Amino acid sequence: MRILVTNDDGIGASGLAALHDALAEWAEVWVVAPDREQSATSHAITFARPLRIRSKRPRWFEVDGTPTDCVYLALHHVMQEAKPTLVCSGINRGPNLGSDVFYSGTVAAAMEGALHGVPSIAFSAESFDALEAHAVFASRFAKRVAAMALPPGTLLNVNFPEAETRRFAFTRLGRRNYGSGVEAKTDPRGQPYYWIGGSGVPGYEAIASSDCEAVFDQKRISITPLHLDLTNEKLLEELQRLDLGNGSDERDV
Ligand code: MN
Repeated sequence: MRILVTNDDGIGASGLAALHDALAEWAEVWVVAPDREQSATSHAITFARPLRIRSKRPRWFEVDGTPTDCVYLALHHVMQEAKPTLVCSGINRGPNLGSDVFYSGTVAAAMEGALHGVPSIAFSAESFDALEAHAVFASRFAKRVAAMALPPGTLLNVNFPEAETRRFAFTRLGRRNYGSGVEAKTDPRGQPYYWIGGSGVPGYEAIASSDCEAVFDQKRISITPLHLDLTNEKLLEELQRLDLGNGSDERDV
């Protein structure tokens, strides 16, 4: 069993070390991770400049790029001769719940793995107070996932609550509120600058069986299956029946 570990907090992050060590008890673990923090870079890939890979020690590589660059380079270059059977991203410092998955580099790394057909899991934690216990659970869970066949184009998004627990729930994506604040200020050179996203901790909507409910309200580990097919099938059906009214439309159905 060979596992690629990456993250968006950077190769020196304690969450990555904990995940690596726990997985290394039963698998051959390779690390290909950003050389610095890349949180909230989402699924960005670097096209406009060259990338450098530095080997830190055997099977550890840092890349001066995004989490997605790391997974891409791992699958198609670094581990080309020894492809991973599983991609594990994290453990991220801070949760990736609900709408967070659209901004998270941690989750995007797992999405990149899934896009290339490799079963992938993203791990994030509300805090690192119980990091070792979270890593033990992550390792056991990864072992179970490695033994099952995830459907193509799917990934698992795992979030740990603040305190150590073995209780978990299979959940759906919730919704978080980031606020809508824009703070405008002036820099020492007289130029305006802006802070976006508000000042507080993001809130969340009360949605039953959601990842936010599991982690924040029930203090459980949340496991959410995600898939990469964003097509809205119901709306697609409605659109097929849409008459645009100019009488000369041609469409293939
Ligand atoms: Mn992060």
